[in-house]
This record gives sequence, structure tokens and C-alpha cells, in this order.
Amino acid sequence: MHSVERIGRYRLERRLGAGAFGTVWLAHDDDLEAPVAVKVLAENWAHRLDVRERFLAEARLLRKAGSPRVVQVHDIGELPDGRPYFVMEYADAGTLADLLAEGALPVPEALRLTALAARSAHALHEAGIVHRDVKPSNVLLRTAPDGTRRVLLADLGLAKSLAQASGLTLAAGSEGYRPPEQAEPGAGIDARADVYSLGAVGYELVTGTVPAAPGKVVPPERLRPDLAPDVARTLMRALEPDRERRWPSAEELARELEDCAATAAAVRPRGWRAPGAGRPRGRRGRAAVLAAAVAVAAAAGVWLGVALWPGAPETSGASGAASGVRVVDATGRVAVRVPDGWGRQLRDSGWDPATLGLPAGHEPGLAVADDLTHWQDLGAGVDGVFVGLSEHGDVTARVAAVAHPGCHDDGGRAWADGRWHGRIRSWSGCPGGGLLTEAALTPAGAGGQPQVYVQVRREGGVDPTDGILRSLRVTQTR
Ligand code: ATP
Ligand code: MG
Repeated sequence: MHSVERIGRYRLERRLGAGAFGTVWLAHDDDLEAPVAVKVLAENWAHRLDVRERFLAEARLLRKAGSPRVVQVHDIGELPDGRPYFVMEYADAGTLADLLAEGALPVPEALRLTALAARSAHALHEAGIVHRDVKPSNVLLRTAPDGTRRVLLADLGLAKSLAQASGLTLAAGSEGYRPPEQAEPGAGIDARADVYSLGAVGYELVTGTVPAAPGKVVPPERLRPDLAPDVARTLMRALEPDRERRWPSAEELARELEDCAATAAAVRPRGWRAPGAGRPRGRRGRAAVLAAAVAVAAAAGVWLGVALWPGAPETSGASGAASGVRVVDATGRVAVRVPDGWGRQLRDSGWDPATLGLPAGHEPGLAVADDLTHWQDLGAGVDGVFVGLSEHGDVTARVAAVAHPGCHDDGGRAWADGRWHGRIRSWSGCPGGGLLTEAALTPAGAGGQPQVYVQVRREGGVDPTDGILRSLRVTQTR
């Protein structure tokens, strides 16, 4: 196969497939002499800064997970026309969706593959990441040097959940794998969302059929009558609409599936296939359109990546009187102190003021919260703070214009503390009951720049906004 084009130093060989957000190419890294897979964001999404950032955030998070059970990301870049891409390891043995094109699998194999996918998801969960889009086409297979197959989880559903949350419709193949809480703004997502999707993947591998909507799933033994009751129970428990009743973790689901697989292998001849299995069957309807989820007017702040706090965050030892946790952004220009317990996760890599309607760019900023994965979802119970600098923009005017549908506007007040002056706006009764304050601050003196945008989100309790604002330190550029 000869090259048709190059992306950076990667020579394209052929198209592996396309999904809702882009196209994946098999390419060759001539320097490392290795095949790679390159995913390029589709043109129609490339102008959406938020989706673009999420696309790259996904690559960074996959990298951060650093697990051999998760697809490795080697490189990210941008085409001359501005479309971002990322380069990942090539899964030479296809995906679970490819296996399913042949119909249901032998039960022990189906269970073992699902268990491996669950172990991959657990590796992500341990790194503080919820996948949100586990489905057969995102479970990749790679041949190991000893000839065995490795299972690799790919493609976080970050961009997809963002697109959905902003009310956009997109073609998605994820219906049937999505737990009910993912369609409900405000429910908050945790690892159990992936447990549901893993149950759906297992169900499909065993029955050859994508499960129906949550709560309406046909018991798998009706589709495969000889299915052992414990296998059916294990899958149905993962597919419980109420997450409290699901397997509490992907690891426990994996263990249970492994036990079922061992039993199934003992009682069934290897290579047994379900009646009708092996017959090619039509691909699932992939044109299902996601219901436009309630547009949670995305709280500003585009996440460029979420860093899980590895241990104790940097705390200020200097002032013993000050309580809380002091956090600093990657440039060292922004520092703020937040209440204890709010400092579990930090994203320190800056923000794009375009999310606030200001000219696009990359400015210093940070987000710190007990759970950053839910920051965009105003319905989720999150305690945290976002601080973004704007060197030239009029943050004050933008904050005055912000609306948060679904929250009650409690009005505004002036702020002045000698360092800053500005305005604070407050909202309460957001979909999950949460509260939100937003401040636009201008430095006292110093030419009025940079302005600062601060968001404080909390579930309840005493409003710590004033203390947070007083602790804010911003270093001017020299
Ligand atoms: P969606 O956009 O809804 O996630 P999808 O997963 O099918 O759907 P993509 O993630 O864009 O879409 O991937 C397209 C196809 O490319 C996949 O179905 C898979 O067959 C293939 N693919 C993706 N990543 C790799 C990889 N690292 N190695 C080999 N093939 C891959
Ligand atoms: Mg995919």
C-alpha cells in the first residue's frame, strides 16, 4: 500500500474507520519504524474550540492513565488546516465491534473479553477518570508478541458528553450502552456509569444483540436459552438502571465475569457458538441521534486536562493561621487558597477565554475541586474553584452577561479588598441543588489588567467566596 498523504512524520496507509468526531488512519512512523493509528478531528468539529480542546484533553488523559490496558498515546499535533490529531498505538486485531460482525461469541470468550475490558476501565477509574463511552468499537484488540490478544480501552467520551451537554445532536453508536444517569443532567457520573456500559458490551458479546433501553433490557437467557443463570445475573446486575444496585466497581464486575468464564469453560466445549452465531448480521443502526440533553450552559472554563492530585497538594506552610489548601497554576502566576477537601483534583494548564465570549487564546488559569470530572455539569454536586486570567479582555462585561439556565439568579454585589475591585454574582438552586458564585475582578491600579474570572461552585454550607477572593494572588507579567 503506498502513501496517500502524511500527517506530520506519519505516512498514511489506509483509513481504519470513522466515528462521530473524526477519522482514524493506519499510518507508519518512519522514524520508529512502527505502525500507528492517527485520529483526526472532523472538519465540522474543528472550529468548535470546546470540542477541540476536549479532543486533545482526551489524548492527554489517556496518556496520563499510563496503563498497558489503555491505548497508549504517543503524540498530538495539528494539521496545516488547523484540525487537531493524536497518534496512538495501533490495535492490529481490530475491535470488539469487528468480532461482533460475525455474531455472538462463545460464552467463555465473551466473558473473558468483557472482564478484560472491565479491568481496563478499572485502570482508568484508579487514575480518577470515568470513560463514559465504553462500547465495542472502543475496545481494541492488539496481538502481543507471544500471540495472545491484549484488550485496550480507547476513546474517552469527553467530547461526546460535552457536545451532548451543549444540546448538540450527533450521530452516535452509543445507544444501548449508556446508563440512564448519563442522559440526565445533574445526576453526576461515576465509575458505575462504565459498569453499566461494560454490562452492555458483555450482553452483546453473549447474545449478539445490543441491549434495549435501561430498565427494558430483555433477559439475556431469552436470547441465549442455555446461558448459565449466574452469567445472566452478573450481566443484568451491571445493567441495573439504579446504579446503587449495580456492581459497585468495574473490578468487582471483572472478578465476577472471570469466575463465570472459568465455570462456563469447564462445562462447555471450547468453540461452542450460540445458535445462529457465525452468521453475518447487519451492523447495528449507527445513525441513532442522541436526544439533545438539557443544555447546561457550560460553566465557563474549557478543561485542557484534569490532573488528579497524587498525594497531598501543595499547601502553604508559611502562614499557619490560614486554613485550607493553596494551589498554584502551571505558570506560577495564579495562586489561590481553597477550603480543605476542595483540593483533591487540580487542572492547572490554563483556559481559553473564548468560553466566556472573549477573544480566543490560551491564558493562565486553574480549576481545583473535589471532582473536576463533573465541573461542566452544573447539576452535579461539586465543591471547587476556577480562576482564569484575561490579559486584555473585558471580563466584567462578560460576567455581567452570563446566564445559567436552571439556576436561580440571586443578584450581585460589589467587591473591593485593596488588591481587587469588581462584582460578584450568585446563583442558587441549580439543577442538583448546587450554588454558584462568579466574580469579575480588576486589579486596583496597574492599568486594569489582567482581569480575573473566578467561579466558586459548592453543594451547600457557608459561602467561602470572600475568603477565596481574599487569598487570590496574581503575578503580573514582567
Ligand atoms: P464513535 O465516534 O461513536 O466513538 P467509533 O468508536 O467507531 O465511534 P472512532 O473512535 O472514530 O469511532 O474510531 C473509528 C474506528 O477506527 C473504530 O471503530 C476502530 O475500528 C478504528 N480504530 C480506532 N482506534 C484504533 C486504533 N488505535 N487501532 C486500530 N483501529 C482503531
Ligand atoms: Mg471510538
